[in-house]
Amino acid sequence: QAFKTIQERDDRVGAYLTLDEEKARATARRLDDQLIAGGDRGLLFGLPVGIKDNIVTDGLRTTCASQFLSNFNPVYDATVTKKLRHADSVILGKLNMDEFAMGGSNENSSFHPVRNPWNLEYVPGGSSGGSAASVAAGEAYFTLGSDTGGSIRQPASYCGVVGLKPTYGLVSRFGLVAFASSLDQIGPVTKNVEDSAYVLQAIAGYDSMDSTSANVDIPDYLSALTGDVKGLRIAVPKEYIGEGVDASVKEKIMDALKVLEGLGAVWEEVSLPHTEYAVATYYLLASSEASSNLARFDGVRYGVRANNPSNLLDLYHESRSQGFGPEVKRRIMLGTYALSSGYYDAYYLKAQKVRTLIKRDFDQVFEKYDIIIGPTAPTTAFKLGSQVDNPLTMYLNDILTIPVSLAGVPAVSIPCGFVDGLPVGMQIIGKSFDESTVLRVAHAFE
Ligand code: GLN
Repeated sequence: QAFKTIQERDDRVGAYLTLDEEKARATARRLDDQLIAGGDRGLLFGLPVGIKDNIVTDGLRTTCASQFLSNFNPVYDATVTKKLRHADSVILGKLNMDEFAMGGSNENSSFHPVRNPWNLEYVPGGSSGGSAASVAAGEAYFTLGSDTGGSIRQPASYCGVVGLKPTYGLVSRFGLVAFASSLDQIGPVTKNVEDSAYVLQAIAGYDSMDSTSANVDIPDYLSALTGDVKGLRIAVPKEYIGEGVDASVKEKIMDALKVLEGLGAVWEEVSLPHTEYAVATYYLLASSEASSNLARFDGVRYGVRANNPSNLLDLYHESRSQGFGPEVKRRIMLGTYALSSGYYDAYYLKAQKVRTLIKRDFDQVFEKYDIIIGPTAPTTAFKLGSQVDNPLTMYLNDILTIPVSLAGVPAVSIPCGFVDGLPVGMQIIGKSFDESTVLRVAHAFE
């Protein structure tokens, strides 16, 4: 059935880059047999899943939506892929994205853009656009995305689905092709909050293969979904509902706060004073890390190699010129510049310091409040092609998701109404490793 829906709809949506129909059918048959034999059932038994194409899958092409990796077949599974198999889900295929997860509209895919299922003229958001659009279009029961500066939450918001970015370190990054290692996190995209809790339960946990994996106890996320938010203290940052945020988006968030108030929660306005520096800080740090992480793509080790190079340097040069798209090159240049000697202190080191200030903003608010709420993005989805000429306006769309990434704390985007037929997303931000409260509030509102 999943493949039938994909066949009917994906011509228009463009969410998938690679399908794995034969293997998926074999898995489904094996699960059938298991069911008949009365064997144990995994947590995600029989659920059809799509995986973002920067998460490696043994024997299944993994491109990061880049021409560089257009022929790359990994020989191992990412830890999350393994966990999905272990939980008895059925992997359908790999999902479209912005090249190497750099972008916020999916227009940076080197294959084809993804379209928003609610209106095909509009972008689905990015970089996990395929992950969000496929769930919204019913082309997967749930999906995995990755979030470095908003790439799960922003597309979830644009597509009207639930997207969770876990605390940095909660979900293993082993087998996630690195963009900015100090920010990257894998998380679930689902239709509702309960499903999000199920998937998180299946993929969270310590992994010795990831040196930044946190060794913490994993709570029972399902039991957190009590519906009870009585006495909950909500902080609403004034920077998240001020200038630059669409009035109609703000209105939806205010309506949602009223609903939570009706359920017994209380909210107050607070300030996260360093918010205005977050975008600049993020693009410096993320690009610096990317320039270093992407150095491994040299035409020798992975993917496509340039033809007839005149010498080794020329091989590197030509492979990288041909393999990477324009946005990836822009970030590598920016990052290399920021890390180069003489500029390091002025840019990279400075940005690290501002990152600490941004994190402190959150620490201070969480001393008094249980949760922070605001919009996920300043606007609803925009028209395909309307922002491609101006990377800076594109970068500014991330203003409300980036601070959370820099602070490393968890946040979920859930649907909270429509403006002109396009979904609005509300962002619920929690303390480090307190996904339970984030999910509880999201579930109560839903
Ligand atoms: N839009 C942001 C960027 O382009 C976020 C990307 C992400 O989270 N992977 O970097």
